[in-house]
Amino acid sequence: MGIIKEQSEKFWNGEITVAQQHPLVPTGEYEEVAAGVMFYRWFANFVAVKTEEGIVLVDTGAHFNRAETVAMVRRFGPERINTAIYTHGHVDHALGMAAFIAEGQKNKVARARVVGHRAVAARFDRYKRTAGYNELVNARQFSGPASWPTDYVYPDTYFDDRFTVSAGSVKFECHHGRGETDDAAWVYIPQRKVLCTGDFIIWASPNAGNPQKATRYARDWAEALRAMVKVGAEVLLPGHGVPVFGALRVRQVLVDTAEYLQSLYDQTAALMNAGKPIEEIVQSVEPPAKLAEKPYLQAVYDEPQFIVRNIWRLEAGWYDGVPSHLKPAPMAEQARQIAEMAGGVGNLVERANSKFVAGDLAMASHLIDWAVMAAPEDQAAHAARMSIYAARAAQSRSTMSHGIFRAAALESAEKAGLAAPEDFRKM
Ligand SMILES: [Zn+2]
Repeated sequence: MGIIKEQSEKFWNGEITVAQQHPLVPTGEYEEVAAGVMFYRWFANFVAVKTEEGIVLVDTGAHFNRAETVAMVRRFGPERINTAIYTHGHVDHALGMAAFIAEGQKNKVARARVVGHRAVAARFDRYKRTAGYNELVNARQFSGPASWPTDYVYPDTYFDDRFTVSAGSVKFECHHGRGETDDAAWVYIPQRKVLCTGDFIIWASPNAGNPQKATRYARDWAEALRAMVKVGAEVLLPGHGVPVFGALRVRQVLVDTAEYLQSLYDQTAALMNAGKPIEEIVQSVEPPAKLAEKPYLQAVYDEPQFIVRNIWRLEAGWYDGVPSHLKPAPMAEQARQIAEMAGGVGNLVERANSKFVAGDLAMASHLIDWAVMAAPEDQAAHAARMSIYAARAAQSRSTMSHGIFRAAALESAEKAGLAAPEDFRKM
């Protein structure tokens, strides 16, 4: 058994958990998972398939690991890149392409065809318009410096619903479905019974709620997963994390993930239709317990609570049902009123610290945010804020929560002139 199959087995059996090895960890391991199909476990996974007419890539790695990505494919074979299929336009999946194009030019071979859903182009256009924001958000989300690329290789072949790429005798059936993105595609290789899911499957609770990024599509996502069940794949190659081997397991992962998302959607929609505000819905919707326990649905990247918020944003808008929030007074002014009523910022800090000590970190966070908004230069307030958010970061299982709380702790450490806490993890 090769390393990838071995890892897959261990993740499936719970011998390794995604808390121990996050699905975005780029181990660099690779293995031929079916005849001529090489799977690479990377920050975003990618796949290289040998055909009589060259290599077909499904995804291309990120902008920040391009040279290594090309080198990895070249250890598999010297053949020309015939086609690259983007499962979506996220920069960690599509932005390795520039290096393959450059390599082709250097070797004076025909330029690779680039296939993607039609909405990939609008995504790349948006990324150029919002590069500054995306760079900041990725630094916060992944807890470290991030660079945002500007050299996009747009597809030359777009499709809307379905499209089949033929290279030699091998066929790649591309299917569009909305999920993590509006430009998402999954690819089935019938001759190998291999399903490349892109980020429809990431070995974690679906990234259908990301608090800092463009909207996601939980209900459509469940639909796409149910369509994947029908092809009867025997190997599932996910966008992040390890492959799944065996028709029964593949089916189980797809069905469970669809049910997980559908349940969150149905619960949210029912409460929405009953007139409940988002604040109340967020407090009461939970994924089914039997699914939340699955090794491939752990909330180590995104969280179900954020999926609920995203469903609301998509189907209901941004009004949260609190009339004062429609046209609010500036938060700093609200905070000054609260501080004054509390008898001063010091009392807010004291109450925040007592909630912190009592373990009520959510309430401690509200109190300390009011304190620093009322007095943005108060070092004692920032010192308390640093400790509270460092603790929240440490307690957060998900990348999304960890990154945001960590960034708040670092911001207050700087304001308070204190050394930053050192025990932060990367993801
Ligand atoms: Zn991804």
